[in-house]
Amino acid sequence: MNKVIIFSAPSGAGKSTVVRHLLEKFPQLEFSISATSRQPRGIELHEIDYHFLTVDEFKQKIAGNEFVEWEEVYAGNYYGTLKSEVKRIWAKGNVILFDVDVKGGINIKEIYGDTALSVFIMPPSIDILRKRLQERGTDLPEAIERRVHKAEEEITYVSRFDVILLNDKLEDTLHNAEKIVSDFIDM
Ligand code: ADP
Ligand code: 5GP
Repeated sequence: MNKVIIFSAPSGAGKSTVVRHLLEKFPQLEFSISATSRQPRGIELHEIDYHFLTVDEFKQKIAGNEFVEWEEVYAGNYYGTLKSEVKRIWAKGNVILFDVDVKGGINIKEIYGDTALSVFIMPPSIDILRKRLQERGTDLPEAIERRVHKAEEEITYVSRFDVILLNDKLEDTLHNAEKIVSDFIDM
């Protein structure tokens, strides 16, 4: 059966950290490379972390109905899952791992129903979330405040997810994430 696992969370809650760990642990999981119109950050690479597109290229793909789902996650910055990406991963018999924003996660769960597991990664508190974003050092203070503000709204959607994964002590989080994934894959 074609399965998908969705990780959603406010930015800075630990999605990338958890997803990276799971991809190393489970060879049958494959990361869905989203398209985005934002600029690469740090050491991110085209076609590995994201398909980096211009806003025009992104809009052309929207018009061409090439996305499973897309969102303007931050003003002027578009993010979306390409249908071609889903096809590519399922053709290999792998389980798709999504790292998407909260609205995207809810949409993908609605599309794939019982063949999807949606996981919301919950930061211990908003203050800790802000601190982690500051320590990550990849965003300007203004962008951090935008992300924190958005997080407060996103947390209100937690009940729309199948599972909540609290990310307090990292070691426990990763252990719990492995259990969630193996239970779903073996189902
Ligand atoms: P996201 O992908 O959700 O934006 P990241 O995985 O990049 O979040 O995590 C944000 C920052 O917090 C990173 O610098 C990461 O190393 C750190 N981090 C993640 N989980 C924990 C944790 N449990 N305790 C402390 N720091 C963490
Ligand atoms: P970042 O800029 O930190 O890489 O991502 C910002 C937000 O966009 C994160 O919450 C990330 O999960 C989300 N995101 C990444 N790809 C997609 C996608 O394909 N669709 C949606 N809806 N959100 C995405």
